[in-house]
Amino acid sequence: MEAYLAELNDAQRAPVLQKDGAMIVIAGAGSGKTRVLTYRIAYLMSLGVDPFNILSLTFTNKAAREMKTRISKIVGNSEAKNLWMGTFHSIFAKILRFEAEKLGYPSNFTIYDTQDSQSVIRAIIKDMRLDKDVYKYKQVYSRISSYKNSLITVKAYFQNPELKEADAMSKKPRLGEIYQEYVERCFKAGAMDFDDLLLKTNELLNRFPEVLHKYQNRFRYILVDEYQDTNHSQYLIVKALSDKFQNICVVGDDAQSIYAFRGANINNILNFQKDYDNVQMYRLEQNYRSTKNIVNAANSIIEKNKTKLEKIVWTANDEGPKIVVNRLLTDGEEGRFVAGSIFENRMQNQMNNGDFAILYRTNAQSRAMEDALRKKEIPYRIYGGLSFYQRKEIKDVLSYLRLLINPKDEEALKRVINYPARGIGQTTMDKLSIAGNQYGKTIFEIIENIDHIDLKINKSTRTKLDNFVNMIKSFTILAENADAFTVADTVTKKTGLVQELKKDGTPEGIARIENIEELLNGIKDFVEGQKELADADGSLAEFLEDVALATDMDKDTGDDDRVALMTIHLAKGLEFPYVYIVGLEEDLFPSGMSMNTRSELEEERRLFYVALTRAEKQAYLTYTQSRYRWGKLVDAEPSRFIEEVDEQYMDYMIPQDDYKYKPLIDTDIFGDDIDKSKLRQSKPKKGTPPPAHKPSESQLRKLRKLKPASPEPEKATNAIKLEAGNVVEHMRFGKGKVLAIDGVGQDKKAEIDFENGGIKKLLLRFAKLKLI
Ligand code: ATP
Ligand code: MG
Repeated sequence: MEAYLAELNDAQRAPVLQKDGAMIVIAGAGSGKTRVLTYRIAYLMSLGVDPFNILSLTFTNKAAREMKTRISKIVGNSEAKNLWMGTFHSIFAKILRFEAEKLGYPSNFTIYDTQDSQSVIRAIIKDMRLDKDVYKYKQVYSRISSYKNSLITVKAYFQNPELKEADAMSKKPRLGEIYQEYVERCFKAGAMDFDDLLLKTNELLNRFPEVLHKYQNRFRYILVDEYQDTNHSQYLIVKALSDKFQNICVVGDDAQSIYAFRGANINNILNFQKDYDNVQMYRLEQNYRSTKNIVNAANSIIEKNKTKLEKIVWTANDEGPKIVVNRLLTDGEEGRFVAGSIFENRMQNQMNNGDFAILYRTNAQSRAMEDALRKKEIPYRIYGGLSFYQRKEIKDVLSYLRLLINPKDEEALKRVINYPARGIGQTTMDKLSIAGNQYGKTIFEIIENIDHIDLKINKSTRTKLDNFVNMIKSFTILAENADAFTVADTVTKKTGLVQELKKDGTPEGIARIENIEELLNGIKDFVEGQKELADADGSLAEFLEDVALATDMDKDTGDDDRVALMTIHLAKGLEFPYVYIVGLEEDLFPSGMSMNTRSELEEERRLFYVALTRAEKQAYLTYTQSRYRWGKLVDAEPSRFIEEVDEQYMDYMIPQDDYKYKPLIDTDIFGDDIDKSKLRQSKPKKGTPPPAHKPSESQLRKLRKLKPASPEPEKATNAIKLEAGNVVEHMRFGKGKVLAIDGVGQDKKAEIDFENGGIKKLLLRFAKLKLI
């Protein structure tokens, strides 16, 4: 047996050793699914399968690179280099470049990112004179996106009256027209958006049997990671390509399906067995990633979902510490607690920054975490949000580069034609645009032919337009022979972009120049890397494709040591020794927008399962009592998910009863410098009353400022004497009858049967009750 095969358990080895046929590996988090794919590829190669014949589709390009590195170690670098590995988008963008002309696109087509697409849609809504409050461009974009991912083309849309009706019902009867216009504008600009990369691949494989055969023959072995999150469009591509040889291995976990909102279809996984002949089904049950506590806690959550495949996940790893739950007053406190805890863990357990991840439901939550980490001087990196390549100055440079590669690219042209200012104003642009529509030409072509077109544009403006076009053309000529770095370097200098920022002189301007330098360094690195590859030369076109499809994770070179901050969606497939899941509050997580149906709620629960199963050694859950949402400070309630975790795996840093409801007053405020050992003491041990924390004057002032509507904290109800039989009133739960009192001192609790809340146990020290 090959030595590396010993690094798998029996269950993992089985799908690795099955060379041919269709197979599916269904298994819970951390059980080695990705490892199976990696080793399977190495094994196929050791059996003599040509790497050119293996296609492996992953969730991020970074995951693909990591797999490749591992495979290189086993089979050698020169062979592994030739594997087709990457995301659906990056692999099929490559194929579309070869075949673009068949579909009427130039092979140098631009890839529009979300910003570009939305800007086109915004322009269409404006040009059609539609109400932008009804036709919200982001909504329209996501609607069009979901049509594309379900393979509903413009033609199909108009053939299906139900779709038109549905859009009319949601007060957007002209959505179909926007869709049509959007597709036309993109096509005219020689641009594909992200969804087109899948849609057009499908079109290519459907319309051109010879192309389909070519790629069926090339990709004799196909592997797909995270199969549960493939959407319909991706599913069809995989199905078409694997149809001939049926050597397909997919791995996934239905419990980690978290992209239904983007059209991922869990049925793909459920129907796999029907789609191929003699499907072998494999299951893995042993988790290698996490402690017993984490694995068991995660199992106890996912159990609550009704729609699921029954699975066993267990681990031989240590029991590990329990999952810590903490309640904080505000997101600022939450940030300080997390930063303090990371600081402590790093010291006490000799960990690196990179061993910690902070996961949240929405990007907006990162700010409070960042502030706290900065104060503690803990380096961090945010994934997602506005990525480097979407920053204004970077997009400006990239737009020049895009334009010189594809002069039809209207979004790029609009961005740079008058930046830096060249005296080409909006009126001129409008005239050019109208002429473009009239003659069916792009703006660039109109300018090129300006002398032959009857346009009311004066002489001096014509000269400016001429100069612009000539400058771009000179760059194009340069790009024919020079590498991406040389071109980019020339462009930043010759266009006056950097000079413009230098003139600015503000700290922001300087930061922008630094970013441009950073971009140039990145391009240089890229060029060096490409030159080592057999089938690449470091051209600008290659670089632009790489940038267009880089997911945020991809820019993580892992060469510096930072805490990772990201949404849970991005964390899929990753692992970290310590994981902090923050903002576990109703309406936030589960998201208020995803609680209407059971299936939505179940997706949120799977998201929680994904989050928790990223942790290797320890997980922390936090929630706040109030949080700024939509610019207002609102009361927050602990997430139902906290209650759903079996409490034997939990370690509550707050009186345990409290996490089930939101006390109206919190006297338990932590100071700025959180010391975990102190926190530990403040955690109530069973039976012993928690120590009282009398807030300082400054803390009280802060509290009052945060919650002006709150009653004075010092008038908390511990003043009133309660006994069984009393009738009380609670601000949230309404009237209630006291059933029993137990505990003493700070730990004194009342069991009360409320009209609006049922029976609750409240800690009297916190509860705000009025005797009636
Ligand atoms: P997820 O569902 O989160 O994507 P997964 O099923 O893909 O998880 P992997 O990431 O492949 O799981 O494996 C989880 C961890 O366990 C990795 O660190 C991996 O290296 C390790 N691992 C997997 N199998 C073994 C094994 N047989 N021996 C030792 N370590 C293993
Ligand atoms: Mg995985």
